[in-house]
Amino acid sequence: MTIKAKPVHAQMDQFPVQNGELLIGGITATTLSQQLGRTPFYAYDRQLITERVQLLRQFLPADIHLHYAIKANPMPEVVQHLAGLVDGFDLASIGELEVALGTDMPSHLISFAGPGKTDEELKQAISAGIIINMESPGEMRRIARHADELGTTPKVAIRVNPDYELKASGMKMGGGPKQFGIDAEIVPETLQELKSLNLDFNGFHIFWGSQNLSEAAIMEAHEKTFNLAIRLNEHVPSAVKLLNIGGGLGIPYFPGEKRLDLKPISDNLHRLLPTLKSHLPDAEIATELGRFIVGEAGVYICKVIDKKISRGETFLVTDGGLHHHLAASGNFGQVIRKNYPVAIANKMHSKVSEVVNIVGPLCTPLDILANKMELSQADVGDLVCVYQSGAYGMTASPTAFLSHPMCREILV
Ligand SMILES: *Cc1c(COP(=O)(O)O)cnc(C)c1O
Repeated sequence: MTIKAKPVHAQMDQFPVQNGELLIGGITATTLSQQLGRTPFYAYDRQLITERVQLLRQFLPADIHLHYAIKANPMPEVVQHLAGLVDGFDLASIGELEVALGTDMPSHLISFAGPGKTDEELKQAISAGIIINMESPGEMRRIARHADELGTTPKVAIRVNPDYELKASGMKMGGGPKQFGIDAEIVPETLQELKSLNLDFNGFHIFWGSQNLSEAAIMEAHEKTFNLAIRLNEHVPSAVKLLNIGGGLGIPYFPGEKRLDLKPISDNLHRLLPTLKSHLPDAEIATELGRFIVGEAGVYICKVIDKKISRGETFLVTDGGLHHHLAASGNFGQVIRKNYPVAIANKMHSKVSEVVNIVGPLCTPLDILANKMELSQADVGDLVCVYQSGAYGMTASPTAFLSHPMCREILV
């Protein structure tokens, strides 16, 4: 019986191959697994991260600052590496503040968003001197109260829940009723109240979504974001110093998806900027990206522990799975499970292929890394590589589920 393979992915050509071995940071997956002493692990390629930032610099207008959203990959070595490359950090938790403070990124270039910041967290953020992106009028009042107690004037920005929704966004995080940000309609009255409070108004944070692979949708979002900023600018108590226009650039994960073409997005930004700058002449404009910067630079490597046939289908059972890589298992926001790009890292050029299912060690049928993929023929001891794993990997996974060993991370 022949099993039909699932469609293939965009070519994963970011990592070179030498003698049939995948190289990450110039080192084979096999050597990395020996150096670490075990599998599974995530490996991130320092050079690929650097090249991503260079690509963005090449396309983004020079006066758009580039921020890294730490939640995509908070590994301290990765954040440290990026501290020297980007213009600022965006945080989504107080734990990320601790990682950011371990780098030499100046505090006024760090901003902190996220609903449900506790009083303790707000006080920590105020003391650290970072910009707090306020998610509600209630949060604004709490910040002002702590500021009075601490005798300082915190830097704040309003996170705006836009009055438009983005088409074709993988994850919508703005528009409609949302737990994020202050609805655009009530921003004017919130700014009115802010005037009477002991707060240093810095500007706006407008975030509309994530994982977008449509150039046209991103261009439309930029235009709407700029227009919204110009409208809200009518109500500000003092000149806008910072306008964060969100990020949202996606990377290809699944068959049929292609890498974004940055050229039209860049041309559109160049076209839109002069009007924006004529209205907000003092504003530093920033875009915040996570996945686009680190996602393609990382792989997840696990080892084949068993190979079995069940009723005509071949199963490679590995020591890695859903507990380390929830997204690749299809359980992190996917409606219909699709395969991540996968390869056999030590048999990249094998002439013999077979259609296999790759599963993990967990006692749940959800623990799937590949479903009916045509891959190089693999055996026990071979290494499975899951591409596009540099963002929302280990820290987005239920690592305690089923009490298997933790996986390692390495920046090479
Ligand atoms: C998650 C998040 C990001 C990063 O999104 P990516 O898709 O990784 O680029 C940026 N900003 C905010 C506010 C976020 O919540």
